[in-house]
Amino acid sequence: MSSSIDAILSPEQVAYRDRLRGLVDKHILPRCAELDESMTVPWDILQMLSRESVLGVVIPQKYGGLGKRNDGRDLDAIPVCLSREQLMRGSCNVDTLFAMQGLGTYAIIAGGSEELKQTVLPPVAAGTKLAAYALTEPEGGSDVVGMETTAVKSGDGFVINGRKTFISNAGIAATYVVVAKTDPSKGAKGLSAFVVDGDTPGLSATEPFDMLAPHIIGAVTFKDCYVPVSRLLGTVGEGFRLAMASLDIYRASVGAAAVGLGQAALEESVSRALARKQFGQAIGEFQAIQFKIADMATQVEAARMMVYRAAKLRDMGMTPIAREASMAKLFATEVAARCVDEAVQIWGGLGVCKGVRVERLFRQARALRIYEGTSEIQRLIIGRAVLREARKAAGQ
Ligand SMILES: Cc1cc2nc3c(=O)[nH]c(=O)nc-3n(C[C@H](O)[C@H](O)[C@H](O)COP(=O)(O)OP(=O)(O)OC[C@H]3O[C@@H](n4cnc5c(N)ncnc54)[C@H](O)[C@@H]3O)c2cc1C
Repeated sequence: MSSSIDAILSPEQVAYRDRLRGLVDKHILPRCAELDESMTVPWDILQMLSRESVLGVVIPQKYGGLGKRNDGRDLDAIPVCLSREQLMRGSCNVDTLFAMQGLGTYAIIAGGSEELKQTVLPPVAAGTKLAAYALTEPEGGSDVVGMETTAVKSGDGFVINGRKTFISNAGIAATYVVVAKTDPSKGAKGLSAFVVDGDTPGLSATEPFDMLAPHIIGAVTFKDCYVPVSRLLGTVGEGFRLAMASLDIYRASVGAAAVGLGQAALEESVSRALARKQFGQAIGEFQAIQFKIADMATQVEAARMMVYRAAKLRDMGMTPIAREASMAKLFATEVAARCVDEAVQIWGGLGVCKGVRVERLFRQARALRIYEGTSEIQRLIIGRAVLREARKAAGQ
């Protein structure tokens, strides 16, 4: 099936997207209710994604994955976005598992030693171990630099103390990328990133939080956790840069996930509009319903183009793409919210019943506007970038 973005994809990328769509239809959609409401890891699905060369998209070829970019120090954004769009169309929890294998390892790919990459990355590509990304704290959410976790030099390593919250895969991840303060006087330049194994003495996780849409997520405490210096990513003070580099690629992919969710809402709406009869005809015959479907289809298509434009610019070497990635994330996640709302409307009373897919989509769409930077933070990034360009053009 062709789409508006085919012109900017390579033939291999089109083939990958179409193959993955078939895998989702066959293995994920038939189980989506169970997968989305479950709080256990579907290891069989993860391993299927590894076997079918999907998980490998987030890991370089050198370390057991498929990425060929920059000698194993970077990844292409388009395959990540294609994967998230299709996986989210099938199941929100499967998309999250895929996304965390990437978000939880990108800083290692970009800043880890050869030895660390050889140890940590292959099991993630194989789908036998899970990764996590620990940035957010109770007092440091949108304001990353407001974090309080510290990493203090001690002998040949660092001792980490603090508490992270809203960490996806908390308690089940084999490795966490953790950002902590190494020099509180230096602001963003005083943050450093580390890889901490899930079984490190002093690391503990809460029970999963009870979320609007089920999601394995919780708080993680670090109490005198010792990590050797080999676990430092990049150099001391590079933590903020590595955290933002991870977002540079994964933020646009949240937009891709939102496109997948919007597409699922559209597909559910179309099937209901054709099947449900009122006043002697299918509700899809009413112009009011046609207009809803028209708006959903148009907005999903526009969001898709913004997401893949941001990803393409990044893959062409235009980094950082903070403005484009933020625009894509902001627009696509707000489109997903509108689409799930209209899908519920088209399903009428059934749309608010548990067990009906649009009800699940409605709950799943909400977090997209919060994680990896809220909509307000995306607007700050975009607004500042637009003003910066205007000042530059005016020679100020
Ligand atoms: C499902 C889910 C999964 C997540 N997974 C992870 C994960 O794996 N790892 C991780 O580290 N974090 C994760 N998070 C945390 C997420 O990134 C944060 O929730 C998010 O960054 C917002 O931080 P906060 O919750 O502290 O909100 P706050 O920062 O307290 O924001 C509250 C409100 O104030 C607004 N606000 C804040 N500052 C400004 C400003 N300067 N201007 C205008 N408005 C502002 C925000 O937009 C928001 O509306 C996850 C969150 C969710 C919901």
